[in-house]
Amino acid sequence: MSTDKDNREDGSMPDEPDELQISDTEKQRIINILNKMMELGIGSIYGEEEEGVPDALVDCASRIRACRAACCTFTFALTKDEVKKGMVKHNPDKPFFIARNAEGYCTHLDISTLTCTIWEDRPLRCRRYDCSEDGKVKDIPEI
Ligand code: SF4
Ligand code: SF4
Repeated sequence: MSTDKDNREDGSMPDEPDELQISDTEKQRIINILNKMMELGIGSIYGEEEEGVPDALVDCASRIRACRAACCTFTFALTKDEVKKGMVKHNPDKPFFIARNAEGYCTHLDISTLTCTIWEDRPLRCRRYDCSEDGKVKDIPEI
Protein backbone atom coordinates (compact mmCIF):
# COMPACT_ATOMS: atom_id res chain seq x y z
CA MET A 1 0.00 0.00 0.00
CA SER A 2 1.39 3.38 -0.94
CA THR A 3 1.11 6.44 1.25
CA ASP A 4 0.95 10.16 0.61
CA LYS A 5 4.59 10.26 1.67
CA ASP A 6 5.56 7.81 -1.07
CA ASN A 7 3.56 9.51 -3.85
CA ARG A 8 4.97 13.00 -4.17
CA GLU A 9 3.35 15.40 -6.59
CA ASP A 10 6.57 15.88 -8.54
CA GLY A 11 7.09 12.13 -8.71
CA SER A 12 10.31 12.27 -6.68
CA MET A 13 11.21 9.62 -4.18
CA PRO A 14 11.47 10.35 -0.47
CA ASP A 15 14.92 11.40 0.69
CA GLU A 16 17.42 8.64 1.19
CA PRO A 17 18.48 8.26 4.85
CA ASP A 18 21.94 9.73 4.15
CA GLU A 19 20.32 12.90 2.90
CA LEU A 20 18.47 13.46 6.16
CA GLN A 21 19.44 16.69 7.83
CA ILE A 22 20.13 16.28 11.54
CA SER A 23 20.56 19.38 13.66
CA ASP A 24 23.62 19.77 15.90
CA THR A 25 21.34 19.51 18.93
CA GLU A 26 19.94 16.22 17.68
CA LYS A 27 23.46 14.92 16.91
CA GLN A 28 24.57 15.80 20.43
CA ARG A 29 21.51 14.07 21.87
CA ILE A 30 22.39 10.89 19.94
CA ILE A 31 26.02 11.09 21.10
CA ASN A 32 24.85 11.51 24.72
CA ILE A 33 22.59 8.46 24.43
CA LEU A 34 25.43 6.38 22.94
CA ASN A 35 27.79 7.53 25.68
CA LYS A 36 25.25 6.59 28.34
CA MET A 37 24.73 3.18 26.78
CA MET A 38 28.48 2.56 26.77
CA GLU A 39 28.75 3.63 30.42
CA LEU A 40 26.00 1.16 31.27
CA GLY A 41 27.76 -1.59 29.36
CA ILE A 42 24.87 -1.91 26.93
CA GLY A 43 26.75 -0.88 23.85
CA SER A 44 30.23 -0.67 22.45
CA ILE A 45 31.75 0.93 19.42
CA TYR A 46 34.58 -0.25 17.18
CA GLY A 47 36.68 2.05 15.08
CA GLU A 48 36.69 1.55 11.34
CA GLU A 49 39.81 1.90 9.25
CA GLU A 50 40.02 1.60 5.49
CA GLU A 51 42.11 -1.17 3.99
CA GLY A 52 45.48 -0.37 2.47
CA VAL A 53 46.07 3.14 3.79
CA PRO A 54 49.83 3.65 4.31
CA ASP A 55 51.38 4.96 7.51
CA ALA A 56 51.84 8.72 7.62
CA LEU A 57 55.40 9.97 7.29
CA VAL A 58 55.70 12.56 10.02
CA ASP A 59 59.03 13.61 11.50
CA CYS A 60 57.73 13.54 15.06
CA ALA A 61 61.22 13.79 16.58
CA SER A 62 61.77 17.27 15.18
CA ARG A 63 58.35 18.52 16.29
CA ILE A 64 57.69 16.73 19.54
CA ARG A 65 58.93 19.50 21.85
CA ALA A 66 56.51 21.90 20.20
CA CYS A 67 53.52 19.61 19.76
CA ARG A 68 53.89 17.90 23.14
CA ALA A 69 52.37 14.81 21.50
CA ALA A 70 49.10 16.60 20.87
CA CYS A 71 47.82 13.65 18.81
CA CYS A 72 48.12 11.38 21.84
CA THR A 73 45.29 13.31 23.51
CA PHE A 74 42.79 12.46 20.78
CA THR A 75 39.92 10.10 21.49
CA PHE A 76 39.09 7.40 18.98
CA ALA A 77 37.72 3.87 18.97
CA LEU A 78 39.97 0.87 18.40
CA THR A 79 39.19 -1.49 15.54
CA LYS A 80 37.83 -4.99 16.23
CA ASP A 81 41.25 -6.50 15.37
CA GLU A 82 43.05 -4.16 17.74
CA VAL A 83 40.68 -5.04 20.57
CA LYS A 84 41.13 -8.75 19.79
CA LYS A 85 44.94 -8.48 19.84
CA GLY A 86 44.70 -6.88 23.28
CA MET A 87 47.88 -4.77 22.95
CA VAL A 88 46.18 -1.40 23.31
CA LYS A 89 44.27 -0.42 26.44
CA HIS A 90 40.75 0.82 26.02
CA ASN A 91 38.54 2.73 28.40
CA PRO A 92 36.44 0.18 30.32
CA ASP A 93 33.73 2.79 30.80
CA LYS A 94 33.64 3.53 27.11
CA PRO A 95 34.39 0.41 25.08
CA PHE A 96 36.34 0.45 22.85
CA PHE A 97 37.68 4.01 22.95
CA ILE A 98 41.38 4.31 23.71
CA ALA A 99 42.17 4.66 27.40
CA ARG A 100 43.40 8.05 28.56
CA ASN A 101 44.93 9.14 31.85
CA ALA A 102 43.89 12.00 34.14
CA GLU A 103 45.99 14.43 32.09
CA GLY A 104 44.05 13.47 28.98
CA TYR A 105 46.91 11.56 27.35
CA CYS A 106 46.80 8.02 26.01
CA THR A 107 47.98 5.66 28.75
CA HIS A 108 50.64 4.29 26.40
CA LEU A 109 52.48 7.59 26.21
CA ASP A 110 55.63 7.90 28.32
CA ILE A 111 55.04 11.42 29.50
CA SER A 112 58.68 12.03 30.50
CA THR A 113 59.99 11.36 27.01
CA LEU A 114 56.74 11.94 25.06
CA THR A 115 57.21 8.63 23.28
CA CYS A 116 54.80 5.84 22.53
CA THR A 117 55.56 2.73 24.60
CA ILE A 118 53.77 0.43 22.14
CA TRP A 119 55.14 1.98 18.95
CA GLU A 120 55.35 -1.31 17.05
CA ASP A 121 51.79 -2.20 18.04
CA ARG A 122 50.21 1.24 17.96
CA PRO A 123 46.71 1.47 16.49
CA LEU A 124 46.11 2.15 12.80
CA ARG A 125 44.63 5.50 13.68
CA CYS A 126 47.96 6.57 15.21
CA ARG A 127 49.96 5.17 12.28
CA ARG A 128 47.93 7.06 9.73
CA TYR A 129 47.56 10.38 11.48
CA ASP A 130 49.36 13.22 9.71
CA CYS A 131 49.33 16.41 11.76
CA SER A 132 50.64 18.43 8.80
CA GLU A 133 47.23 17.93 7.19
CA ASP A 134 45.22 18.57 10.31
CA GLY A 135 43.90 22.10 10.63
CA LYS A 136 44.00 21.86 14.41
CA VAL A 137 47.73 21.19 14.70
CA LYS A 138 49.31 21.67 11.25
CA ASP A 139 51.26 24.77 12.17
CA ILE A 140 53.45 23.01 14.69
CA PRO A 141 56.97 24.35 14.07
CA GLU A 142 59.96 22.10 13.65
CA ILE A 143 62.47 22.87 16.39
S1 SF4 B 1 52.08 13.20 14.63
FE1 SF4 B 1 52.34 15.40 14.84
S2 SF4 B 1 51.23 15.93 16.72
FE2 SF4 B 1 51.61 13.74 16.74
S3 SF4 B 1 53.55 13.45 17.86
FE3 SF4 B 1 54.02 13.53 15.68
S4 SF4 B 1 54.50 15.68 15.33
FE4 SF4 B 1 53.38 15.60 17.24
S1 SF4 C 1 49.15 4.40 21.11
FE1 SF4 C 1 51.03 5.52 21.07
S2 SF4 C 1 50.92 6.88 19.29
FE2 SF4 C 1 48.83 6.14 19.75
S3 SF4 C 1 47.91 7.70 21.06
FE3 SF4 C 1 48.84 6.15 22.38
S4 SF4 C 1 50.92 6.91 22.82
FE4 SF4 C 1 50.13 8.05 21.05
